[in-house]
Amino acid sequence: MTDPDRTDRAADRPSSDLMKRETAVEKARQKTAALALEFGKAWEYAPAPETPDHVKLEERYQLFIGGKWMPPKSGKYFDTVSPSTEQTLAQVAEGNAEDVDRAVKAARHAYDKYWGKMRGAERAKYVFRIARALQEKARELAIVETMDGGKPIKESRDVDIPLASAHFFYNAGWADKLDYAFHGRKVRPLGVAGQVIPWNFPLLMAAWKIAPAIACGNTVVLKPAETTPLTALLLAQIIEEAELPPGVVNIVTGAGETGAALVGHPDVNKVAFTGSTDVGKKIQRAIAGSGKRLTLELGGKAANIVFADAPLDQAVEGIVGGIYFNQGHVCCAGSRLLVEESVHDIVVRKLKDRMATLRLGDPLDKNTDVGAINSRAQLERIKELVLSGEREGAERFSAPCELPSKGFWFPPTFFTNASQSCRIAREEIFGPVLTIMTFRTPDEAIEKANNTMYGLSAGIWTDKGSKIFHVATRLQAGVIWANTYNKFDPSSPFGGYKESGFGREGGRQGLAAYLEVQ
Ligand code: NAP
Ligand code: MG
Repeated sequence: MTDPDRTDRAADRPSSDLMKRETAVEKARQKTAALALEFGKAWEYAPAPETPDHVKLEERYQLFIGGKWMPPKSGKYFDTVSPSTEQTLAQVAEGNAEDVDRAVKAARHAYDKYWGKMRGAERAKYVFRIARALQEKARELAIVETMDGGKPIKESRDVDIPLASAHFFYNAGWADKLDYAFHGRKVRPLGVAGQVIPWNFPLLMAAWKIAPAIACGNTVVLKPAETTPLTALLLAQIIEEAELPPGVVNIVTGAGETGAALVGHPDVNKVAFTGSTDVGKKIQRAIAGSGKRLTLELGGKAANIVFADAPLDQAVEGIVGGIYFNQGHVCCAGSRLLVEESVHDIVVRKLKDRMATLRLGDPLDKNTDVGAINSRAQLERIKELVLSGEREGAERFSAPCELPSKGFWFPPTFFTNASQSCRIAREEIFGPVLTIMTFRTPDEAIEKANNTMYGLSAGIWTDKGSKIFHVATRLQAGVIWANTYNKFDPSSPFGGYKESGFGREGGRQGLAAYLEVQ
């Protein structure tokens, strides 16, 4: 018979060996990390700022209505500032309800007189022209986007501007093929679209809204976000240069009230809104019963699910890209990290190591990974939620980086030991803050991922294709990435489930939002 004591001791031995080995590995890791840090300091990247010298911003921007630049009826202007320097970049017209009315009238006129009747092939020429002009002016647009919104130039140069142009190209290609987009069914445009967009992807959101609308034969009044109006105004200049008939696209800058006046205008046929769930609900209430068509792209609290069999280094890169690049100012940011329990500690350690190498600072520097928070108000919101996480007992880690003295900044941060009921696990933070939780089985991961009022996006990291399909078909999210994160394409429909909104942007489904399909 086996001596039970002996068996126990035998079982103990490998685990204590393992512990010794783990300690040795950890010591070696710390030594390498310290060396890497020293090495990193010696080889710190030299500053590589993109020069804004050739960008000529006007001191004051008017409203773009009926193909003309018009002063606002109120005579009022507001400053748009650079969140990384707090410097005023330009003054922008504050449109009121009267201005919105002028813009809607101009859009109606353009729709009735020519744009709504124009052959698709003719409309396409204009939309292609805008797409090409965006490519030609890509550098200037990227710089202005970064100055006005605070995102790193790497992001605006490589993501925002090329994608904005790609959306115009994609939709231009559909303009003369709309009868074939819906399997033999006839389509017709809706009329005047009132569109309201947020500050996190200013030009890209304008492109998502304007390109399908005008390609389908609608005319548009667009209200950009108060803190990032500049690239929409540059787009208006491009539209003017492309000689689009007057009134087809109108840009009315202003605050929330301007947006409310636009969506509430009785002669608007279609409302398209991207922004917070709260404002989305207000809009839904305001236009209920009016017969206006509505699409809402709202907030998110995406789960990024990492299984133990995932390529962990690749997953860590995806986690970092999903929440820290772009300061977490992404509606589909992977802000809840669900890690299989057995690899939790390894993932957290790898994440800390990677975070130590993130470069935060001047958004115009080509090496910058994390830029400025879009506005003081947004920074305050992030701080308040982070404080609530600490108060609720979660453990905070912030990347060891220096924050510039001027501007609005928040270090890449994560929380561990957070429960699902914590505010940081439930509410959209819209900043570089990640909440890490664990799971043991795929079912538990699915349940936790779906335990939210949102349903915009999710990520799955695993070596097994079958697991990807098993999990993806059970997640309630509009967009699901597998072994990658935050990848976009104009042919791919994007939109939410539950309180993340309804309707799709991009792809054939995105056209349906701007057409009556008969
Ligand atoms: P927000 O406060 O809802 O603002 C969005 C836009 O609506 C802005 O232009 C805003 O004007 C305007 N607005 C405010 N009140 C309004 C009202 N009562 N009626 C009509 N328009 C009104 O959102 P945000 O804080 O700027 O943007 C962040 C939010 O957008 C996040 O929740 C994010 O998840 C969401 N988002 C979603 C998607 C998506 O595709 N699902 C994409 C990007 C962002 P002001 O700028 O003057 O306030
Ligand atoms: Mg600004």
